[in-house]
Amino acid sequence: METTGMMEAAGAAEAQNKAPRGVRDILPEESWKWAYVSNTVARTMADFGYSEVHLPIFEHTELFSRGVGDTTDIVEKEMYTFVDRGGRSVTLRPEATAGMVRAALEHSLCGQNAAGKLWCWGPMFRYERPQKGRYRQFYQFDAECLGLAGPVADVEVIALSAEIFRRLGLRNLEVVMNSVGCPNCRPRYRKVLIDYFTSKKDVLCGSCIDRLDRNPLRVLDCKVSGCGAVADSAPAIYEHLCDECSAHFEEVKAGLARLGFPYKLDKRLVRGLDYYTKTAYEILSGDLGAQNAVCGGGRYDNLAESIGGPHLPGVGFAAGFDRVVLVMEQQGNSFGRRPQTQVYVAAQDDAARGAVQIFTHKLRQEGISAEQDAGDASRGTRSFKAQMKSANKAGVPWTCIIGGDELAKNLVAVKNMTSGEQVSLPPEEAAAYIRRYIG
Ligand code: ATP
Ligand code: MG
Repeated sequence: METTGMMEAAGAAEAQNKAPRGVRDILPEESWKWAYVSNTVARTMADFGYSEVHLPIFEHTELFSRGVGDTTDIVEKEMYTFVDRGGRSVTLRPEATAGMVRAALEHSLCGQNAAGKLWCWGPMFRYERPQKGRYRQFYQFDAECLGLAGPVADVEVIALSAEIFRRLGLRNLEVVMNSVGCPNCRPRYRKVLIDYFTSKKDVLCGSCIDRLDRNPLRVLDCKVSGCGAVADSAPAIYEHLCDECSAHFEEVKAGLARLGFPYKLDKRLVRGLDYYTKTAYEILSGDLGAQNAVCGGGRYDNLAESIGGPHLPGVGFAAGFDRVVLVMEQQGNSFGRRPQTQVYVAAQDDAARGAVQIFTHKLRQEGISAEQDAGDASRGTRSFKAQMKSANKAGVPWTCIIGGDELAKNLVAVKNMTSGEQVSLPPEEAAAYIRRYIG
């Protein structure tokens, strides 16, 4: 009894001291890289005419069960759903498209003549088996183009995702594409597929036999090798598309060719979300191993209706932020310059500490990043020598020193740490002097 009690206590202590399985802290070592990536994403989205929306992290559970689809892995197995204190069922968003369409309808963000081009980024939540590149809280950036039914919008969306990756320097990527048809032609293809897979039933895995009648398209992207071999020889949907879907598909391909984008057709690409119609695509990285998709998207002309709205065509993509950073690190790509302290302000003696605090604050107000010894009676202030050691250790390009002499004449000694050059200037001029160098 005693031992069990202790083990339970130890388990509880561990739970409190560690982040839950599948979630992680993005620490300073990495967070500056995230800022670089999100800035690049924001800039590219703006260049393509997209406006940012901050969406809520949780929504009514029904939004996802209806929008994403009851028979998808996400809704069946992966959602973080709970009942709140008011007795409502809410879900931490597993993806952003359903929320974005909900927001666009709620606030009339696109009209008859104006497309709603919206983007967002932030955490998503899925109860999955954590592994490299797969987390339970992960991040996506996401673009949705609402209100346009034509193939030019599809091409623009694919081009936008590819352009973000180009600016981030990602190499070794492949665009794979398919059409998943529409409610006109999919039922026919569904039947062809059920007939085909039923004839191969003895080779399919348990979950594929399970989903054969409910969602036979999902058998196409099963990762089990036996099912994969059968799926490879399955009839291709693009040979069963209706005229409209077929013409749309041809025009998307022509549009990509016009922009010079190479792509590959993959008849097994169906995407795990029910809302897709016509175009479905993914961008895969050759440097990610098993979790190789950095981006997935496509057209979803019936999503708005399935969540109780009017008919509203849409096309968009979601990209895995964590995986993008992972690939960039692996490929040794640039994240720009890590923000660094520019100036260390040192007090030669205790009498100068007040002046150091004032001057440090002035530099910071001017947008020059500055550090000082912020020790006090409880922690102990650091000697002048120790302060200079901190400045050296931090590798700051400039130090400013204030001592008795400087105090008496209202000056600051500005030292260029690279050249060793030192000048004494009034505080206002000292800031301007440093600014001239660091730009
Ligand atoms: P996967 O095939 O890797 O499970 P998915 O098809 O479930 O991906 P989407 O729903 O299309 O993924 O999400 C778009 C992108 O979000 C993916 O291409 C991937 O980069 C990223 N992503 C999805 N799930 C996770 C996760 N659990 N952890 C980290 N990134 C993820
Ligand atoms: Mg998945």
